[in-house]
Amino acid sequence: MTDTDGSEYNVKCGECGAPMRLRDSRFGRFYGCTRYPDCKGTHGAHPDGAPMGVPADKPTKQMRRTVHDLAGRLWDWDDPAAKAEMYSWLRGFTESRHIGEMLMPELRRVKAELERMIAVAVGGQPAAAQDDEPNPATEQPPGPADMDDAALNDEMPNGTLAEEFEDLPF
Ligand SMILES: [Zn+2]
Repeated sequence: MTDTDGSEYNVKCGECGAPMRLRDSRFGRFYGCTRYPDCKGTHGAHPDGAPMGVPADKPTKQMRRTVHDLAGRLWDWDDPAAKAEMYSWLRGFTESRHIGEMLMPELRRVKAELERMIAVAVGGQPAAAQDDEPNPATEQPPGPADMDDAALNDEMPNGTLAEEFEDLPF
């Protein structure tokens, strides 16, 4: 493998627009903003140095994680067949082939559609051992928006490099 600082890919920081350079960490390679430490913008890289998807600012990255998690409720990320089906759905619904390429307007659209599909999936399941008498406490399943907040609070990494690159190629 020819070593590279990634400059041939012309990656621009999703936070500030400055050039990014390829760096190494124990979690693999990544792009870091050349204005570090003033700017802590980072972006995922493939082992050969190619950037993963499109760099984005923090709110966009958070939205990508949210969409990734929502999609994970409909398709199992660990099941290659389910994952392929998910990407097939994504291609029919959006311009981007990967969540890591999406920017805010598209992410919002995909999120809304995933939430709709999840609501249908949740609503379509028969209620377990329901009495004839309606039970107000169980009539309203937790909405995707509520679950979303909980998931974000529980699972959102705090933005350190190590955590950012542990799981997702965003
Ligand atoms: Zn930057």
